[in-house]
Amino acid sequence: MSQSSRSGECNQCGECCTYIKLPLAGELTPDQKRWVELHQGVKVEGKYVRLGIPCSALINGSYCALYGQRGRPQFCRDYPQIPQLDEGCSYKFEAEEVIAVRR
Ligand code: SF4
Ligand code: SF4
Repeated sequence: MSQSSRSGECNQCGECCTYIKLPLAGELTPDQKRWVELHQGVKVEGKYVRLGIPCSALINGSYCALYGQRGRPQFCRDYPQIPQLDEGCSYKFEAEEVIAVRR
């Protein structure tokens, strides 16, 4: 999906800075999934594992200490790029809006 389909602005809720999400190498068995999720703050979401570890640059739950600085990752400047938004995120993607209208 192209960035041009994105609309809205960041409401600075900070939610997307509270975890990292990494792709799994392969599908987990139910037993492996249970083992993974026995670890505090770790959750399997489809083909990804979500690690509930806040970014070290996150201050007071919503302020980025690197905002406007060169050390801030480009990934953060471009986020979000795909319509898999966190709850409370104020961005919208065109495709989501179309689906919502058709329901
Ligand atoms: S660098 Fe800033 S924007 Fe990026 S994850 Fe950390 S706190 Fe969030
Ligand atoms: S979840 Fe969305 S609205 Fe909240 S800080 Fe991240 S990009 Fe901004």
